[in-house]
Amino acid sequence: MTPHTRVFVAGGNTLYGHALTTLLRAEGFESLVGVGTAEPDLTDAAATDAFFAQERPECVFLCAGRSGGIGLNRAAPVELMRDNLLTTLNVLASAHRHGTAKLLYLASSCAYPKHAAQPLQVESLGTGPMEPTSEAYSTAKFAGWKLCDAYRREYGCRFVTGFPANAFGPHDDFTPEGGHVIPALLRRAHDAKSRGDAELVVWGTGAPRREFVYSRDLARACLFVARNYEGEAPINLGGGTDLSIADVAHAVAEVVGFKGRLVFDTTKPDGAPLKALDSAPLLDMGWRPESDFRAALNETYHWFLHHRATEG
Ligand code: GDP
Repeated sequence: MTPHTRVFVAGGNTLYGHALTTLLRAEGFESLVGVGTAEPDLTDAAATDAFFAQERPECVFLCAGRSGGIGLNRAAPVELMRDNLLTTLNVLASAHRHGTAKLLYLASSCAYPKHAAQPLQVESLGTGPMEPTSEAYSTAKFAGWKLCDAYRREYGCRFVTGFPANAFGPHDDFTPEGGHVIPALLRRAHDAKSRGDAELVVWGTGAPRREFVYSRDLARACLFVARNYEGEAPINLGGGTDLSIADVAHAVAEVVGFKGRLVFDTTKPDGAPLKALDSAPLLDMGWRPESDFRAALNETYHWFLHHRATEG
């Protein structure tokens, strides 16, 4: 890849997409296509294909498709699954048809079996049932990986799949009900502080553990993989910080300046007990995360403060 490579970040309005677009610009990429309103409706096959025919992106980062936290996964499994299946079908077909040289598909760590050995290794994919609360979305992500693989085998396409850890950062979904744990808690802690509430409600027992990666680091990992990884196996995109939900809630309260009590609402689901990725293959290639968790959380909160009038 050179600064002149024509790059399309499919799903530029997502958490990952924003981070990637920002990074690519900072790295001097001059030929980003489909940015902002120029991105077609990727659930529409004809619109997607017309876009690829005209722009002929050489490299594609596929982060399109709706996603959300445990609340959204329970409320809208059909919309999440349909959106992800359609965008993936359309983008892969058009990338193949119009000669995209390299594509990185962003799957999700939800696609791992619920009880796979930790840290999660790509060899465990498909060896057991997934976490039921996000099964529809995760099945779409799993299918996306398999479709990339099928294109690689049948047509020799350089379509690589990455499985990212739980990412957070600016441009995330900060709605209290639909977002992932970090943006949802930042939002709820902020509102609780503004109202002077004595309590902040945290979903579940607080015991589950997750690996969190700052979206800026995830974007760096994606670019690194697009440049350096040609393997057939999918690759985990982690190397982040492993924390319990209780640890996260305390860190959020501190960053926001919420001084009240944390209350764990055990009527809400915990989801998977543990989710940390084995990112040895990525780290062995020489990639390292750069961000400190607390500093990244602080940056994310400040982004939210600055943009909350227009978000959620
Ligand atoms: P997951 O990694 O797919 O389970 O995604 P989430 O980010 O939605 O949830 C991670 C964990 O955080 C689960 O154990 C949730 O019960 C817990 N959690 C605690 N408070 C919240 C919250 O306000 N929103 C969400 N989404 N999860 C929360």
